[in-house]
Amino acid sequence: GIQRLSTAAAALEEPITPPVQVNYTKLLINGQFVDSASGKTFPTLDPRTAEVIAHVAEGDAEDVDRAVAAARKAFDEGPWPKMSAYERSRILYRFADLIEKHNDEIAALETWDNGKPYEQASLGEIPMLARLFRYYAGWADKIHGAIVPADTPHHVQVLHEPIGVVGQIIPWNFPLLMFAWKVGPALACGNSIVLKTAEQTPLSALVVAKLLHEAGLPDGVLNVISGYGPTAGAAIASHMDVDKLAFTGSTSTGKIVQEMAARSNLKPVTLELGGKSPMIIMDDADIDKAVELAHFALFFNQGQCCCAGSRTFVHERIYDEFVEKAKARVLKRVVGDPFKKGVEQGPQIDEEQFNKILHFIKSGVEGGATLVAGGERHGDRGYFIKPTIFADVKDGMEIAKHEIFGPVQSILKFSDLNEVIKRSNASPYGLAAGVFTQNLDTANTLMRALRVGTIWINSFDIFDAAIPFGGYKMSGYGREKGIDSLKNYLQIKAVVTHLKDPAWL
Ligand code: NAD
Repeated sequence: GIQRLSTAAAALEEPITPPVQVNYTKLLINGQFVDSASGKTFPTLDPRTAEVIAHVAEGDAEDVDRAVAAARKAFDEGPWPKMSAYERSRILYRFADLIEKHNDEIAALETWDNGKPYEQASLGEIPMLARLFRYYAGWADKIHGAIVPADTPHHVQVLHEPIGVVGQIIPWNFPLLMFAWKVGPALACGNSIVLKTAEQTPLSALVVAKLLHEAGLPDGVLNVISGYGPTAGAAIASHMDVDKLAFTGSTSTGKIVQEMAARSNLKPVTLELGGKSPMIIMDDADIDKAVELAHFALFFNQGQCCCAGSRTFVHERIYDEFVEKAKARVLKRVVGDPFKKGVEQGPQIDEEQFNKILHFIKSGVEGGATLVAGGERHGDRGYFIKPTIFADVKDGMEIAKHEIFGPVQSILKFSDLNEVIKRSNASPYGLAAGVFTQNLDTANTLMRALRVGTIWINSFDIFDAAIPFGGYKMSGYGREKGIDSLKNYLQIKAVVTHLKDPAWL
C-alpha cells in the first residue's frame, strides 16, 4: 500500500489520503464497543491539516465506573487471573502475531492521528509493540515468589499475586508504545485494566485492543476509555475500586493524579513524567557523528519525547564548529507530510503544543539566545514547525529550564567535566542523558555522576522491551519495561506456616 502512496506524494500538494479507515470510535467496556453514558463525543484531528478525522465517544466518570466494575468482575470472577500463566502467555504471543500481521494499517492510523512519519511508525514503533508483548508473554509463566529461610520454626513462602484492577493513563506522543509499556506487564501479571488514552490520539489503542480480544483476551480484562484528563482521567485516579495507578504525562499532571490517589483509596502510583535531558558532547568526540546524534536526540518524533536531549552541552573547543554543522544538518531536515517517503518530521500534535513551542521560541529570542535556524511555522496549515536551533543558550533561560516538547535545539557551551556534571544535574528533572566521548574515564565518570534514569553513551534513544525506563527526581518514579516493571503490578503476600516438627530449618 505504501508504494502507491509515495508515488502519489510526488504528484500531489494535497495531504496524502491515509491508506486506512477508522473502524472503532467507541469506548471499549467489558469486551464491547459502547457509546458514552452521556452520548457525548469529541473530535480527533489530523495534525497535518487540523481537519476532523473522526468523532470519538467521550468517556466520563459514569463510563469509568462501568469500566472499573467490568474490570473488577473480570478479576474476581473471570478466567484471566485463574487460567494458567502459560495460557495467558499464549494469548499475548498470539496478540503479538496479530500486531505483526496488521503492522502497516496500525502504523497508518497512528501517523494519521499523531502526525509521526509513517516510516518511523511502521518500521520502528509498531514492531517494537510486538517485541514488547512477546517479551512480557515470556515473563508471564516465570513470575513466582520464593520460599525464604527465616529465623523461626516456620515454613515461609512469599507469593507474588496480581495487584487487581489497574488504572492507566497515557499521553499522545507514542500512543501505542505507551499502551504497550503499561498493558504488557500488567497483563503478564494477571491483572485487569482500565486504560485512558490521550484525547489527542484515541484511535490506535482501540484497534489493538480489539486485536487483543481476537487473540483470546477475556471480556472485561482490558477496558479502554477515550476522553479528557480532568474528567475521565480524574475519575480513574480517584476511583475507590482501582487498586493501582500508572501514569505517563507532564510533571504537573503527575502531581495532581498522585494527590487524587492519596485522597481516595491510597492506591500506589507510578509516574513517568517530563525531562530536560542533557546531551553532553566532549571535545574528543567525532564532531560529525556527534552532530548527527545530537540532532536525532532532540528532533526525533518532532521533538515530542520526554527524554529528548534538549540541553545540548558542547565543549568550548569544538563549540563553533559544532553549531555550524548542526545548522547545516537542520537545514537539510525534511519536514512535510508524514505519509510521504523520506519525510523526517511531521506536524506537532495539536494547536496547544504548536503555540506553546512558538512561545518558547519567542522567549529564546527575547532572552538573548542566538537563533541559528528555523524559529517559525513551516507552511501555512496544520501544526508544522521549522526545525529550530538556538546557540549561546544560558542555563537560566526559559528554553534551557523548561520542557519545550518540540523541534527546538538549545546548544550550551561548557569548559570542563565537573562543570558540565554540575550543570546537567542542576535540573528538577532526571529522566535521561546522552554522553558522546571516546574517553572511557570520561564516560565512566559521567555514567556515575549524572542523576538520571537512563544514560546513553555514544548512542541515544535506544529502547528495548528488556531495558528499564523511568526517572529520577521530578521525572517520576517506578520503572517501565524490563523485569522491574513487573513489580508495579504485583502484590506480595507472606505465608507463614507453623511447623509442628520441623525436619530441618
Ligand atoms: P498531560 O499530563 O496533560 O496528559 C497526559 C495524560 O494525562 C493524558 O491522557 C491526559 O488526558 C491526562 N490528564 C490530564 N489532566 C489530567 C487530570 N487532571 N487527571 C487525570 N488525568 C489527566 O501531558 P501532555 O501535556 O498532554 O503531554 C506532554 C507531557 O507528557 C510532556 O510534559 C512529557 O514530558 C510528558 N511525557 C512523559 C513521558 C515519560 O515517559 N516520562 C512520556 C510521554 C510524555
